[in-house]
Amino acid sequence: MSKLNIVLFGPPGAGKGTQSNFLIEKYKLVHLSTGDLLRAEMKAETELGLAAKELMDNGDLVADTIVIGMIRNMMDAYNDAPGFIFDGFPRTEAQAKALDDMLNAKSEPIVAMLSLEVPEEELVKRLLERGKTSGRVDDQDEVTARKRIAVYMRETSPLKDYYKAQGKYKAIDGVGSMAEITERLVKAIG
Ligand code: ADP
Repeated sequence: MSKLNIVLFGPPGAGKGTQSNFLIEKYKLVHLSTGDLLRAEMKAETELGLAAKELMDNGDLVADTIVIGMIRNMMDAYNDAPGFIFDGFPRTEAQAKALDDMLNAKSEPIVAMLSLEVPEEELVKRLLERGKTSGRVDDQDEVTARKRIAVYMRETSPLKDYYKAQGKYKAIDGVGSMAEITERLVKAIG
């Protein structure tokens, strides 16, 4: 059976992490969040984590080679998974190409890129709200929140065209209750 490899896409605060939790449960997928992986490295104070910390706290992207290497290691470790949800990855065209190369080598391509669409003002509201409990430095102030959204617009949102060209892009309205949004995603997965 072919694997259910999905890119869950969208700006910071779009709800990718929350929705990933529902989808991994329903489809028994492995969740690969580069943000979570990087935060674990930071917490463990590894060399990689220490190098990434300042960039992440400021809302800048971490180097492609680092996140691609992390994804490669995780895909090898979970080789038998029924599929992966890629969350927060890819964020640049170089990352998208590297992911395609890795998956095509195994003949297990991305089947869909589900893009959660949420207006900027709602994103900023959600990020600052999350900042009250997340402990994340990058969620604490409006300037950093808006910067992350700007980085997304510049570096990451062009990937919609990359996946459109492969016929895999699906826009999902990311405003509504958590359950409503899950239902939209499940319908799009089919
Ligand atoms: P959010 O989607 O809320 O911004 P993430 O946990 O996905 O949260 O990412 C937090 C930070 O981690 C990013 O701002 C960036 O610094 C770094 N990061 C995560 N994923 C990537 C990636 N694929 N490429 C580069 N940097 C990344």
